[in-house]
Amino acid sequence: VTATQGFPTAESALAYRQEHDARVRALYRMTMPTLREIERTQLAQQGTHHVVGGPGGKDELINAILATEYPARLMNEASHVLWHRRGERWDVCDFCSADTGSLETS
Ligand SMILES: [Zn+2]
Repeated sequence: VTATQGFPTAESALAYRQEHDARVRALYRMTMPTLREIERTQLAQQGTHHVVGGPGGKDELINAILATEYPARLMNEASHVLWHRRGERWDVCDFCSADTGSLETS
């Protein structure tokens, strides 16, 4: 039994994180109106919208966009696949606690 589903290989996990990092850089190059439009479009696709306001600063806006495009669960899973070795237990990592019992640590 493997605890991870989204990333069968370290390469796929690394590719996902690199894609995320490239998206972060691209978003920071965009103007605020463009970022607001992306965020509004995402909310509309989820069938929702801001009642009042929305994320204020550029960082907040970018974080909101990234949280939709790259869900924390998948980013955590990618980190786990890349950097957590079997037998290690990272308290904040759900995948470590699920990934036990299959191998003895030497
Ligand atoms: Zn882990």
